[in-house]
Amino acid sequence: MPYPAGRHYLQIPGPTNVPERVLRAIAAPTIDHRGPEFATLATEVLAALRPVFGTTGPVVTYPSSGTGAWEAALVNTLSPGDRVLAYETGHFATLWRDLAVSLGLRVDLVPGDWRHAADPAVIAERLAADTAHEIRALCVVHNETSTGVTSPVAAIRRAIDEAGHPALLLVDTVSSLGSIDHRHDEWGVDVTISCSQKGLMLPPGLGFNAVSEKALLAAENARLPRSYWDWRPILAANERGHFPYTPPTNLLYGLRESLAMLAEEGLDQVFARHRRHAEATRSAVRGWGLEVLCLDEHAHSATLTAVLVPEGHDADKVRALVLDRFNLSLGTGLGRLAGRVLRIGHLGELGDVSLAGTLSGVQLGLELAGVPVDPGGITAALRVLAAA
Ligand SMILES: *Cc1c(COP(=O)(O)O)cnc(C)c1O
Repeated sequence: MPYPAGRHYLQIPGPTNVPERVLRAIAAPTIDHRGPEFATLATEVLAALRPVFGTTGPVVTYPSSGTGAWEAALVNTLSPGDRVLAYETGHFATLWRDLAVSLGLRVDLVPGDWRHAADPAVIAERLAADTAHEIRALCVVHNETSTGVTSPVAAIRRAIDEAGHPALLLVDTVSSLGSIDHRHDEWGVDVTISCSQKGLMLPPGLGFNAVSEKALLAAENARLPRSYWDWRPILAANERGHFPYTPPTNLLYGLRESLAMLAEEGLDQVFARHRRHAEATRSAVRGWGLEVLCLDEHAHSATLTAVLVPEGHDADKVRALVLDRFNLSLGTGLGRLAGRVLRIGHLGELGDVSLAGTLSGVQLGLELAGVPVDPGGITAALRVLAAA
């Protein structure tokens, strides 16, 4: 292995590059989690999280991955045998379905082709057909990280309301929170699920549930077994800036810093930057003469782009080459997309020149792997960056 000069480019759609400021914040001594200094930290951070979720309500924070936060949302609101409607947007939607099934829930999965967003009209139809109101919750992945497709949560809320259906709305914002607009309160979301290692620019290790009043009420009657994930003791301890168990103190130092960074740039500016970078990336892909996986013009993800590699070529070979030669990590094809797509992550801490460097690395990798591409792809991307 030659020495990999320069900084590693972690351009997978999570974990994302952790900013220097956040790394420095994490590198502080761990303190007594029952002492006054910790209480100040937790109180500050738990309050500062709320606007990022678009809520004035509580955000339950776990030492966990995103998968843990999925489980927490289900076990706090549902009972054994409950029916749940889920929408197959891609690999993460099916993983969440599998988790729900293993907890003893009955899941109806609306089939999808992994190239389109969840369709509110189909959801409205399914809910309207459930006249007995047996469906207790609807599970939707806001930004499907396996495909680069973003689903319209506000329109899905309207579809539920128009069907006059009482189902809870559970939304996975793992790869959208802090990068793509999400409004927990305004859009009537009951549980917003997220975690630390994507748009929040932190290492893995923090899971989140933003919780509506309706979801808190459901938690009083839910009968799935829960202990570690139970919202109630956590919310009670949080009142005093504490947790019922040892919290991940150093990640909370990091979170305080990353929330400060998002506030300094301004959330609207952060969202606009991600949209612009996504547009530049799509311009590169189309300029190369390749195809973006997402087929809905209004559903292109602002945080990642999945690129179809032409028939007869292996996307993972391109990725391996790019890593080996250019010290740049790209996302692999997940589930049924294995070998077919490579995913370019453009979320978290990312400036224009870092994106241009990433896209240059992808172009070089494609060329070296023998994939026929038009080298004008990079120029097309740079034009988008220059225009804004
Ligand atoms: C990354 C991701 C997850 C899983 O998060 P883990 O931290 O790996 O458990 C879930 N949903 C989406 C949309 C993701 O992008």
